[in-house]
Amino acid sequence: MEQIKIYLKYIKDVISGEEYLSDREKYSLVLHICAISHIIFSIMFLGFGNILLMLYNLLSFLTYESMISLVKNKKYMLIALAFSLEVNVFVIFTTLAYGYNLNFNLFCFLIIPAVFYITSMTKTFKYPFPFSCSLSVISLGTYIFSVLYKNDGYINLLKNYPVLTRITSVMNIVITAILLGVFSFMFTVEMKNSTATLESRTKQFRQLSSIDPLTKLANRRSMMEKLNISMHLLRKDKKVFSLILGDIDDFKKVNDTYGHDCGDKVLVMVADTISSQMREGDFVCRWGGEEILILVNGNIDAAKSLGDRILEKVCANEVRYENNIVKVTMTFGVAEANESFRIEDFIQKADNRLYYGKTHGKCQVVDQIPNSVNS
Ligand code: GH3
Ligand code: MG
Ligand code: MG
Repeated sequence: MEQIKIYLKYIKDVISGEEYLSDREKYSLVLHICAISHIIFSIMFLGFGNILLMLYNLLSFLTYESMISLVKNKKYMLIALAFSLEVNVFVIFTTLAYGYNLNFNLFCFLIIPAVFYITSMTKTFKYPFPFSCSLSVISLGTYIFSVLYKNDGYINLLKNYPVLTRITSVMNIVITAILLGVFSFMFTVEMKNSTATLESRTKQFRQLSSIDPLTKLANRRSMMEKLNISMHLLRKDKKVFSLILGDIDDFKKVNDTYGHDCGDKVLVMVADTISSQMREGDFVCRWGGEEILILVNGNIDAAKSLGDRILEKVCANEVRYENNIVKVTMTFGVAEANESFRIEDFIQKADNRLYYGKTHGKCQVVDQIPNSVNS
């Protein structure tokens, strides 16, 4: 009972696209169903006393089982060809023996979804569409032949084996329906799998395109998106926000003294320290080489005190690199957004204040240039 529950959950997960069914599992499933069907047919033909068709079905059973090794070698086109050939031959043989009333000719319609499915999964095959169409047309031809071929075999069979004959007719309809169901199921699984793969890749790409690989901070592009949104909210809802532009002091010296790898470590430390100080609504990005831009959810006073706190934390932290303890400071320029500003003007204002800080002793947060109202 427990095992059945696990199995049903697996099928549910496969349908929902959470579980992945490998090519091997999919093709083996179909081949096993075909093989089992032929065992049933051979028993039926034994019942009808037709040893020839019984042997043909036993041979088909063995062929399908051995075809599973073709799955391992990814010989999918060969499988499609062998499947199509076998079904056509089988329908022709049964038609010649008993006519079409036993419904074996319905199997012709199984060829169509099967070959389209197999060829669509085979990436290396050059002409999947003409190949599938040709096999489908051949199977349609076989079906038409079976319907037009005059044969009294069925009437004799019905006289001699009334029950078995009726069972066979109905069973062939059921087997066709089951196999059509299996193919539809596989198409659904394939569709779900592709959608799930596509969704996870899109997510991955979106992450890759919006995150700086070294510091794991957002990049300039995602900051511009955020800034546009914040600017819109400022104009629409008067939702005030500010910017802090920070730059590591004398970073070149760190690179020159301890090497680029150490510089990278310092950058990561700075990024982590700043990230840890972010509150709801704040957003931080790596703006350039060793420049960090922070969008602050608040006015200039809130931004200034956040800048002070970040400066304090960055100065308190250190990086250990090859027996060296490396400490850095930073300079920040702060500006509050203004409805009449363009984003570029606004960033420029923070940059001017950062520049002022750099030229007036570094290691500080500048929110106003003395004796200036607009800079
Ligand atoms: P200042 O105090 O005026 O900012 O001096 P500074 O030495 O920091 O000067 P500047 O900002 O012009 O130097 C930036 C340096 O940062 C130059 C560049 O080699 C280095 N840099 C930029 N990106 C990276 C990076 O990803 N890793 C490392 N290790 N260094 C970087
Ligand atoms: Mg610098
Ligand atoms: Mg710089």
